Amino acid sequence: MTELVQIQNLKKTFGKSEVLKDINEVVNQGEVVCVIGPSGAGKSTFLRCLNVLEHPSAGKIIFEGKNLTEISEKQLNQLRQKMGMVFQNFNLFPNMTVLGNITAAPIKVKGISQEEAEKKGRELLERVGLLEKADQYPASLSGGQAQRVAIVRALAMDPEVMLFDEPTSALDPEMVGEVLEVMKDLAQSGMTMVVVTHEMGFAREVADRIWLMADGYIQESGTPEAVFEHPETKRGQEFLSKVL
Ligand code: ADP
Ligand code: MG
Repeated sequence: MTELVQIQNLKKTFGKSEVLKDINEVVNQGEVVCVIGPSGAGKSTFLRCLNVLEHPSAGKIIFEGKNLTEISEKQLNQLRQKMGMVFQNFNLFPNMTVLGNITAAPIKVKGISQEEAEKKGRELLERVGLLEKADQYPASLSGGQAQRVAIVRALAMDPEVMLFDEPTSALDPEMVGEVLEVMKDLAQSGMTMVVVTHEMGFAREVADRIWLMADGYIQESGTPEAVFEHPETKRGQEFLSKVL
């Protein structure tokens, strides 16, 4: 197995609050990891540390042989392009069309021609069933459609790994399924994914591994079966007894 992202002795504090105390994990190529845990556990902070949107207080994030916490901003920006991120609230650019949202970064950052970027953008939109929305603006999309566009926008950069922070938490219940379906297809295509989620059904079905985060540590790390059926820690048992 190829190790794609190595997380070593990761710590993050905000003032006196120690949010991440000592995280040591590896994301393997092609693997889907679901990160679960109570609100305030540090899941978003952890995900943002992986691409150094949030600068760790200590520790290393090793990606493509480089420690992201000690390279230049220029190098960091280059490596970040290979880590797609999808947020709870879509964060689409409201003043650009759907296709404009998808092609902006490939054109500007990767220097791909507009024609090529649009061709690829349309292919990706077709893959998530939204080709007919290409020329519309985000305001005209439902939440589920907007999130599928946000996923396509991240994929348009050809990432090595996709990071999702509660991608379905802001959606009306009837739209959750269409977004999880797209993520499931992506997982089956071999994409490496780290997904913070409260969707336990999705985690159980799609994840190769579950990381259960609480009190600043990853308390449980294992297959869905191991973590859901046989949690080893008190903290893990307590959390799972509330959500399963
Ligand atoms: P989760 O995503 O698991 O709900 P977060 O990572 O959002 O948890 O937050 C973990 C803790 O860190 C919370 O107590 C939160 O208030 C705190 N926190 C997160 N970001 C900041 C920040 N920028 N400044 C200060 N405290 C923060
Ligand atoms: Mg969060």
